[in-house]
Amino acid sequence: MVDLKGQYNKIKTELDQAIQQVLDHSKFINGPEVAHFTRNLEDYLQVKHVIPCGNGTDALQIALMALSLNPGDEIITTPFTFIATAEVIELLHLNPVFVDIDPDTFNLDVSKIEHAITSKTKVILPVHLFGQSCEMETIMSIAKRYQLYVIEDACQSMGTEYLFSDGQRKKSGTIGDIGCTSFFPSKNLGCFGDGGAIFTENQNIASTCKMVTNHGSTQKYYHDRVGVNSRLDTIQAAILDVKLKFLEHYISERQKVAHYYTQHLQCIKEIQTPQIASYTTHTFHQFTIKTNPLKRDHIVQDLKANGIPCMIYYPVPLHLQEAFRHWGYSEGDFPVCEEVSKSVFSLPIHTELTDEQLEYIVNMVKTFAT
Ligand SMILES: *Cc1c(COP(=O)(O)O)cnc(C)c1O
Repeated sequence: MVDLKGQYNKIKTELDQAIQQVLDHSKFINGPEVAHFTRNLEDYLQVKHVIPCGNGTDALQIALMALSLNPGDEIITTPFTFIATAEVIELLHLNPVFVDIDPDTFNLDVSKIEHAITSKTKVILPVHLFGQSCEMETIMSIAKRYQLYVIEDACQSMGTEYLFSDGQRKKSGTIGDIGCTSFFPSKNLGCFGDGGAIFTENQNIASTCKMVTNHGSTQKYYHDRVGVNSRLDTIQAAILDVKLKFLEHYISERQKVAHYYTQHLQCIKEIQTPQIASYTTHTFHQFTIKTNPLKRDHIVQDLKANGIPCMIYYPVPLHLQEAFRHWGYSEGDFPVCEEVSKSVFSLPIHTELTDEQLEYIVNMVKTFAT
């Protein structure tokens, strides 16, 4: 699904130098590269504050911790996402309230959000799945009307742009009160281990998030609140600072692959290629197609047997996960999400795919899906 080594080899000299520089000065924690990368990312995203942290899951947890919520407060989110999104809600004794998804974009169906709001609702947590943005203008206006916070899970949408109806564009994760991202190696902007970041325009939220990442402390050995230990390693920041310069290139390489797949597969009636909403760009963290649920598992098996790595993101919606059984959801609660989880699979998409590989993949998909 990824070719991290191929991507590394193309900029090996520059990356090796950046890593060597960290080894030479040995400031492994909060070295100067962390501040450099943070500033460069703020610049790229056009956002006031970036707070680096240990990974995307921590970013989500720290964002929730920064909002002084109370146990039992409700967080509206999607059941069709990676478990991290809901895990942190559970860890903080908050309650997830799921809302079904749109069958074409796989993102929150914004027309169903208002029905889910109660007096305990405090946050809407949209996830920009697979690299395209949720419909943020509607989400922000609902949030404003009900005085809710918005935390964007932008772990899969680094570099995606939201297109406002007045023509304004903003980077994914910079529209809500807080945005969270991950630098896991396979993400659009990946490091060589774990890493994550929080974005915000709000000075108070930024200071609180920063304090939370550092054991609730601004002055060493004085702790104002309970926090966590979540840092971006200097080495990872050095790597990310190099790779950030190539992010737009990486995105366009992903988009080229997506374009090729779409051109060659959209004519097949058994397959639905990704539908891109008018209000967003798509950075294709995943290229996810829909097929007949009765045939999906066979197609995936056949592709794998022919050397094509494909994956099902996600085979079990969060409301049906064993870990969340006590939340009391059951089969049938979110029919669109359940149907989608039985119908989708994702093809390899990354920056190093060759024309021959693409041609082979497309031919195999045509063979097995029809
Ligand atoms: C990857 C991912 C996360 C978690 O990021 P980590 O860095 O692996 O902790 C959270 N949410 C979504 C949607 C993700 O894809």
